Order: sequence, then structure tokens, then C-alpha cells
Amino acid sequence: MDPFAPGTWVWYTPAGDKPSLLPAQILLDAPNGDPVVSANGQDLTVPRSSLRLMDPTNAAGVEDMITLAELHEAALFHNLAVRYKRNEIYTFTGNILVAVNPYQALSMYDLETVRKYKGVMLGELPPHVFAIANQTYVSLGRTGKSQCVVISGESGAGKTETTKLILSYLNQTSPTHSLVQEQILDASPILEAFGNAKTVRNDNSSRFGKFIEVQVAYGTGGGIVGARVVEYLLEKSRVISQSSDERNYHIFYNLIAGASDDERTQLHLGPVDSFLYLSKSGCTTIASVDDAADFKLIKESLHTLKFGDHQKSLFQVLAAILHLGNVSFQEAGDGAGISSMDTVKIVGKLTGLDSDKLANVLTKRTTVTRGETFVTPLSLAQAQDSRDALAKAFYGRMFSWIVKFISDTTVSKQNLPFVGVLDIFGFEDFAFNSFEQLCINFANERLQYFFNQHIFKLEQEEYQKEGISWQTIDFVDNQTCIDLISKKPLGLLSLLDEESNFPKSTDQTCLNKFHQTHEKNGCYVKPKTAKMIFGVRHYAGEVIYQIEGFLEKNRDTIRPDLMDLLATSSNSLVSNLFKAPPEEIQPEEDPRGAIGGLRRESSLGPGKGAPAKSASVKGKTSKSPTIGAQFNTSLAELISTLASCEPFFVRCIKPNSQKLPGVMDRDLVLAQLRYSGMLETIQYQLGITKMFMKSNLDATLEHSRSSALLTKIKKLQAFARMLKVRKEYKKLWGAVICVQKVIRVHLARKRRRKYLRRV
Ligand code: ADP
Ligand code: MG
Repeated sequence: MDPFAPGTWVWYTPAGDKPSLLPAQILLDAPNGDPVVSANGQDLTVPRSSLRLMDPTNAAGVEDMITLAELHEAALFHNLAVRYKRNEIYTFTGNILVAVNPYQALSMYDLETVRKYKGVMLGELPPHVFAIANQTYVSLGRTGKSQCVVISGESGAGKTETTKLILSYLNQTSPTHSLVQEQILDASPILEAFGNAKTVRNDNSSRFGKFIEVQVAYGTGGGIVGARVVEYLLEKSRVISQSSDERNYHIFYNLIAGASDDERTQLHLGPVDSFLYLSKSGCTTIASVDDAADFKLIKESLHTLKFGDHQKSLFQVLAAILHLGNVSFQEAGDGAGISSMDTVKIVGKLTGLDSDKLANVLTKRTTVTRGETFVTPLSLAQAQDSRDALAKAFYGRMFSWIVKFISDTTVSKQNLPFVGVLDIFGFEDFAFNSFEQLCINFANERLQYFFNQHIFKLEQEEYQKEGISWQTIDFVDNQTCIDLISKKPLGLLSLLDEESNFPKSTDQTCLNKFHQTHEKNGCYVKPKTAKMIFGVRHYAGEVIYQIEGFLEKNRDTIRPDLMDLLATSSNSLVSNLFKAPPEEIQPEEDPRGAIGGLRRESSLGPGKGAPAKSASVKGKTSKSPTIGAQFNTSLAELISTLASCEPFFVRCIKPNSQKLPGVMDRDLVLAQLRYSGMLETIQYQLGITKMFMKSNLDATLEHSRSSALLTKIKKLQAFARMLKVRKEYKKLWGAVICVQKVIRVHLARKRRRKYLRRV
């Protein structure tokens, strides 16, 4: 029989310098000539010697990657690709779920499927996000311990959809049905309206990170009784400008399209084009989105979450931001003057501020030094900056206030275990990378470290302690990079803070400090040119950052005279957003000069944001932490929360950049598999198998200090060898995992005994 019959799957090694392996399918075989294959979307005539048959498990695809006979990069890709063609978008790698974005509505999330997965052990049914959701719930019920799902992937990979599917599953399988459950689900459209926008990568891109804890009454039946939401690092710059073909936050367009005639009059709303903050990017609509219909849904959700009269105030602030964007300036003698006072009046009316005073702070700076008041006119550019800074402050604080309001409404006061779901921005490397990208990529470094710790490091260390001879399996240990960014006192964020607190410093002096301190660090890249850039070698690749704007963004201050005006607003929401809790005001004794008198403007981290830390022009100041420091702290809190949970991982994969169903771009997918640690996970499993199958394992295991453990392992080892001979790979992996479990249980028992002896 012809081994290369048409339709057969083979591995094809193209000639060339770079060794690579491509999955290919035979199209035509010429018994004495060269076969024609289809590989990577092309039909090629290739030499027979460059082909080798694929193992049937690899050819057909498997539900759990670790049951593949051949395990390498190309095999992982092929497995995902053949499954994706069949709309099987989910695949396990052990307990990790890989999810490939289908870019089409699939019928796999209906109530029937929910019921099918309910209560079934992980691995018994085909891979599905419901299998993970179910397992968190089951584990929580069994152990009373909080669980968490860490969802990662680049923009557009499907993280937010996955989050919603998990919440929806938990809700549908909850034995209770209450208002709070409805509120938890209805929080999503609100958060998305205010925190998502169309970008070139994703029509509904989340511009903030979030962690939702769904609290479960585990002692009394397991119903969902509440939820807490924490947000991270909203992208505020989007409020004032967007790249071409991108939009501002959805809610602006929703409001304009969906407002009633009454609202339109009260808010002085014109068409989208009439607002500069919306019209400059050249993109105002999204093909599949009905902004007016969405506005109706948002209103309903705001109602469910009991926003009450706040709804009106929120719309006023939104409209005020839009009108603020239309405020223009002109040269007026020694500085800038307002050239559109009518617009300022509208802003004043909507925000409950005196419009003359507002015009004043937008064009002049008032400072108080040693009891004397100074008024300095602003230049045209400074006036425009102050306008934009105000717009960003309004939006950032409003967003934090909304998240806090939702969280306060839905959270249960009882101290209960929870299922936490983390939906946070993936690794970013753009043409222009700034402070935000450094923060985002730093977050990804920390999460990757957490993943590594959980999957590889702890276990390997335990093996070594136990005296099991263990050839450590490599994974990218990114501790050095984390230290480079955050270790005190010389990490990049610390140096940046130091510079941010020093009035005379500039982005250039900060860059010099970076270069001087880290020139020799293997994770740091000092450019060969004098450009204002530096690079960091992240686990996912090298990223070049432009230092311009770092200091300003890190300080994120708002002028004291502006703050003081805002706190006097007659609009209760506005005064609330900018009011200072009195106890936070400290006497002014600040050696750092001007900067110390400014207020930090921020919208990140748990509970930050809403109640602004404020001071007064009249000689008080508060030293709130910088954006970098706040982010570092909230990340550390997040990681420690995650570490106290039992974690599950979902790796979302973006199959192509065109948002098309059925298309899988090999290079794009391979890159994601590489930096999500999937390959290493597989290598690790492979390494463990090899170790357990080694014929001289017996000798090395003799060093183990537990004979019961040895006997068990040896039995499993013999069993595994037999399975390998029989090519029963799935069972073989089962046996290996069993060995791992035996060791883990053994070690856990040992730890407990040790602990008991101590107490
Ligand atoms: P991310 O949060 O990772 O940036 P999203 O979750 O917003 O990505 O997904 C981007 C888009 O991809 C969604 O708006 C949706 O159109 C599509 N998508 C993602 N996951 C699914 C899914 N499971 N089923 C159908 N479409 C999906
Ligand atoms: Mg998202």
C-alpha cells in the first residue's frame, strides 16, 4: 500500500538553512516521482525524502495536547489547527485550557451544554471553558478555598468573552437566583460601555484590566451571594485623542445616538462630528454595533445596579467632557484667552461650576507661596494641556467611581471564599511604546512568573529536596526582568519615582539614570544612538520604549487651583470625584518644591481613584504615590490574592489579525504559543516522562528517603513502560501524571507531619 496516499498527513521538512517542520497533507502521489502536498496554504511538489508520516494521534488531533505522540512546536500548532477547522476551539494541555478565538457565534454555550458540564470532573468531557468554570466551583465546594482563573492572551484573543462565559456559567449553575446575580451580569455592559473602545485590533477592546471575585456561600448550598470588582490602569489618553481608525470609549457614541430629545436638549448634544474629542480619528461607527440600542441596554443595566439619580450626573459629566474638548483658545496679550466662552458656559452648567472661574483656571495658574498669591498666565499650548488634563481627570475619576459603586452594590459583607476571574491586558509591543506599555508588560511579567512558579518551579524544587535526582527542566525564569523593573531602590520604576519627585528633572535626566544604572543588566537595552529610548528584554521579547512623557504620566498630577475649584461644584457627583478626605491633608513641608503641591491624578488599583487625595492651594499638600508606585502595589496585592487561591489558567489565542473565522495564521499562533509558556509546559511534561521512564531511574530513586513512595513510583514506571511499548500514549500520560500526583501527595503529607511536629 502507498504510505503517501492522498489525504495522508505528513511532516514536511523544507530545504533551507533554518530547520523547520511543517504539517502537510498529501494531495497527489506519483509512485516513482515526487508527491504533491499542501503545506501552509500552498500546493508544492516536494522530494519524497523530505516527508515523514505523522503519528495518527497527531494527524487527527487530540483533546489534551499531552497525549500527542510527537510533541514539538509544529505538533502543537497542527493540533490546534485541525481542531479549529472542526470548530473545536478549546484544547487542554493538562489542566491549562487553550482557547482559540472562533470569530463567529458558536452554538456551544447553550443551556443544554451548561447542564452537561455541571458537576463533571475536569477532563471527562471535551475541553470547554465550562469545564474550567465547573471545576472552580466544585473545588471551592470541596475545599472551601478560593479559586481563580487567570486569563491571558493578546488584545482580541478572547479574554473578555471568556470572562463573561465563566460568569454566565457560574450564574446558570448557581442553585439560587437573586437580584445580586443579575447585578453581577449587568455590570459587564456598563464596564464595557465606559471602559472599552474600538481599536485596530479589537472592535470591543478593554482599555482597563479587571479582577472579579464571585463570592460563594459554600457552607449553605453554594449559591452566589455577591461580587467584588477591582480595576487596573484605565487608558485615559483615549478620552482626548485616538489613533486613526479607532474610537473613543463606547459610551460617548451610545449617549449621542440613544439620548432622548429631552436629554439631548439638557446636555446640549449635537451630532458626533460636532465634538472634536470624537471626530478627529475619522472613525465614529462600528459595522456590527447599534450605538442607540446599546444605550438602552446601558440604561437598563444602570437601573438594575441602582444608580438612581447618579445616572443623570454621569451623563452630565460625559457631555461636559465632550464640550470641554470643543473649548478653544486664542492669543490674548500675555497668554491664552478663551475664544469660545459659550462652550465654557455649557461645561460650567453641566458640571455645576462657575463658568468665569472655570475660564480663569483654564487660562491662568494661581499659586500660593509663603502666604502670597501669584497669578501666571498660561501659554496657548499650556491652556490646551490644562483643558485636556481636566477632561482626562473627569473621565478617569468617573470610571473609578463607577467601578467602586458597582463593587459596593454587589459585594457581600460576609467573609466568603470566591471564584476570581482575571481579565487583564496582554503583552504589548507597538510601534510607539510608552509608560502605559511598560506598566502593562510589567504586569504580564509578574503573571508569567506566577504561572512559572505554579507550573514548574515549586514542583522541581520539591523533587530536589526529596532527593529525587532531577535534571532541572529549563523555563524562562523572568526574575531578573522583574527586578530590573521593580526592585527597590534601583529598579526602573524606583528611579522614575525619584526623578518624578524632583522638580528639575526631565525625561532626559531620567533616561540617563536608567542607562547609568542598568547598562550592564542583561535584560536592559541601551541604544547605540542618542535617541530618547531604552529597551527591556521581556520574557515575550524585546520592547523598545520611548521615554518622552514618562515623568508627566508617572506624576499624573492635577493643579491645586483647578482641584480647589472642582471641589466646589454644585453637581454632587463632580464635587464627590474631586473632594479630599480631610484626614489625608498634610501640612506643607515639602522639600521637593512645586511637585509636592500637586495632586496625583489616578484611576488604578483597588479603591484608588474616586476619593481624590486633595490639598488646598493655601499651603497644604499630600504626598500620594505615583502611578508607577500605585500600580506596583496593586499588582503585588493581586498576585498575593492569586497565590492564596487555587489557580486555573486559560490561554486565549488570536488565530489571525483580520478577525476572520476559520483562518489560522501559523506565525502569529506560534509566537503566542511560545510566549504563553505552552511549549515549555509541554517540554516539562515530556521531561518528567523521560525521567520516570529512564532505565537507571531505579538507581537515582534509591536516594529517595521514602520507600513507600519508591515502591509506588516503580510500579507506575513498569506500567508506563508497557504502555509505551503498546503505544497507548493517552494512558501513558495518565500514568505519568499519576506519578506526579503520588509524589505531590507524599510531599504534602510530609509537610503536614513536619508542621504538626512543630506545633
Ligand atoms: P480580548 O478581551 O482578549 O481583547 P475579546 O474577548 O474582546 O478579546 O474578543 C474579541 C472579539 O472576538 C469579540 O468581540 C468577539 O467578536 C470575538 N470572540 C471572542 N471569543 C469568542 C467566542 N468564544 N465566541 C464567539 N466570538 C468570540
Ligand atoms: Mg478585553
